Amino acid sequence: MLLVRYGELALKKRNRRMFEERLLHNIRQKLDPFSGVTVQQTFGRMFVHLNGADAVSITQALQQVFGIVSVSPVVRTELDIGEVKGAALALMEKHDMPNVTFKVETQRANKQFPLTSQEVNREVGAHVLRNTRHLKVDVHEPDYPLTVEIRPQGVFLYTERFPGLGGLPVGTSGKVMLLLSGGIDSPVAGYFTMKRGVEIEAVHFHSYPYTSERSLKKVEDLTRQLAVYGGPIHLHVVPFTEIQTNIREQCEESFTITVMRRFMFRIAQQLAEKRGALALSTGESLGQVASQTLESMRAINEVVQLPVLRPLIGMDKQEIIGVSKEIGTYETSILPYEDCCTVFVPKSPQTRPNLERTRQNEANLDVEELVNDAVQHTEMKTFTLDDKREFASYFD
Ligand code: ATP
Ligand code: MG
Repeated sequence: MLLVRYGELALKKRNRRMFEERLLHNIRQKLDPFSGVTVQQTFGRMFVHLNGADAVSITQALQQVFGIVSVSPVVRTELDIGEVKGAALALMEKHDMPNVTFKVETQRANKQFPLTSQEVNREVGAHVLRNTRHLKVDVHEPDYPLTVEIRPQGVFLYTERFPGLGGLPVGTSGKVMLLLSGGIDSPVAGYFTMKRGVEIEAVHFHSYPYTSERSLKKVEDLTRQLAVYGGPIHLHVVPFTEIQTNIREQCEESFTITVMRRFMFRIAQQLAEKRGALALSTGESLGQVASQTLESMRAINEVVQLPVLRPLIGMDKQEIIGVSKEIGTYETSILPYEDCCTVFVPKSPQTRPNLERTRQNEANLDVEELVNDAVQHTEMKTFTLDDKREFASYFD
């Protein structure tokens, strides 16, 4: 079986129960495709009973669940030193090669056990040494630290520890509406939003026919990739052509980006309120492009009341790219299909848009009607990683 460790030290008692219940739910959901696997929660950790399923692929799946600190394949024995020795030998025999070292580390949480930690270390270590050819002990830097945990429920032995993602289980911190473009940044912002336990829904602004079906498909694939970490994700696709056409006709060219963003925020806020999301989240960082100055953010933020999370605010582009490669969104993000912003991009956008002039630029637009109309025609689709068929057809 697999031992799953979790736990934010700072968790309060009451939160802890919610944390555990949610984590258990998320792990079960993640492991649903593996038949026969069961999950059990006991005393501040969880056990995944493999029942014959592949430990490697299940460990990898668990390494995509927020809230898990580490995972170890473990063997459980009864509270009997003979059994412990047998299990330790079985674990270490696999590594019996020249120049390989190990060390037994016993943790005795169960004080009823007749031997002390030191005695267990010695007996188990001696048994392994006697029955293998090459293994040696190295107490300082062993290749394989063999941990023996003696607990009331039995004895647990393991040699490996695979790191998890950390963070909080998705669903313990409320819901946020992520503005998801087809670029590199916003999927990473989605990842970091989920990392702190937030469930996300995504909203994408689509300017068909100026932007193609393929660019929409790209955003759907990014949503699917984020679902690896967050369970099923709803994607709201907003028809944005009408608004963009109006903006182009009615606004000074240098203000089109700022006004367009204000519409995105207004619409996202309405969708958030409809769906019970408590904030918006974007892939903005500071100083990256013209629309990402503090002056721009202020002009754009003015039209919403909900908090706007910007998880990438302090990151450099290279760091963001690094994360996007790690989480598997990069390859999709760099596909060349145009985005609604690139189609309508002005020659010289305002980098420090003045608030008053921004408002004036909207004076000839029927803001309320345009927003309501877009919201009304928004379509929602739900994505999980499981529908791989569609994903594959995209690349041929
Ligand atoms: P990204 O790499 O995420 O596309 P960017 O560097 O291209 O970001 P901007 O074009 O200024 O930056 O967009 C800033 C943020 O606005 C994006 O990260 C995203 O959250 C949101 N956004 C932009 N275009 C769209 C869109 N078509 N649909 C939904 N959200 C969008
Ligand atoms: Mg972009």
